[in-house]
Amino acid sequence: VRESELLHNIAQRSAGMTSGFPHVLLGPGDDCAAVRPPGGSMLLTVDQVIERRHFVPGTPLDLVARKAVARSISDLAAMGATPWCALATGALPAGFAPSDADALCVSIKKWAEHWLCPMVGGDLASMPDAASPLTLTVTAIGVAHPSGHVVTRAGARPGDHVYVTGALGGSFDRATGQGRHLTFEPRLRESAWLLDTFGARVHAMIDLSDGLGRDAGRIAQASGVRIELDAASIPRHPGVADWRSAAGDGEDYELLFCIDHDATVPETCPPTGTPLRRIGVVRDGRGCVVQTDTGSHDAGDMGWDH
Ligand SMILES: [Mg+2]
Repeated sequence: VRESELLHNIAQRSAGMTSGFPHVLLGPGDDCAAVRPPGGSMLLTVDQVIERRHFVPGTPLDLVARKAVARSISDLAAMGATPWCALATGALPAGFAPSDADALCVSIKKWAEHWLCPMVGGDLASMPDAASPLTLTVTAIGVAHPSGHVVTRAGARPGDHVYVTGALGGSFDRATGQGRHLTFEPRLRESAWLLDTFGARVHAMIDLSDGLGRDAGRIAQASGVRIELDAASIPRHPGVADWRSAAGDGEDYELLFCIDHDATVPETCPPTGTPLRRIGVVRDGRGCVVQTDTGSHDAGDMGWDH
């Protein structure tokens, strides 16, 4: 009864989806959703958040739902894509209150629509025991930038300038488990503006989930280049002690991009005011280093595994 009630509620609340999002032909409530395919390439990504891994027990469910959706939306932004639709699953600890499950569904739908990514379907299941971690999985589908340019990690070229949006470090408050990792804004508008303005001169991009050092290393590896970052240029959030924290903390969900050296990038993104900071350069070679007054530090071993 609980489950059928829950599914009924979800279908009821989603009844208006097809008018709000004309490309959604059939939303939650049937065996499948139906959506009109976008005109360009589709970008697909899936990500999960796991209790005690990505959020601490007791985190408000609305913020758990927000993070689950935002992480996948951030991946779309990293490729220059615009959200099209999404699917979600939840694995709930045994004994999870039905009212909490319902609230979780409301939040997932709300946040998905906040980023114009209608949640067209999903599934909830109960885990075998009460100690199981609450786990949410979100599959997000996007459409490539109208130019057709899909920004991968593999396009960086020697001579490119390396930029980052926003500021880094201290996203996850280790004392409380709270912080920006629960409330970050995926850089959709910044990504769209970059592609609108510079097109294919944006050579490579990634969203910073595992830390600047590690994620810059991923671009370097995928592109077969060397990335040199300037420690003093790395923008830090207030209270972030040094470049090592800024480069290693992770969960920033800012965009790191490599752009043609001829591109004139302003200090802030015009539509949003988000800072755009040049922090390095792409060279021939391999690997990623952070340069300080005292020398070169290998960036590849900074950051953390999810
Ligand atoms: Mg990513």
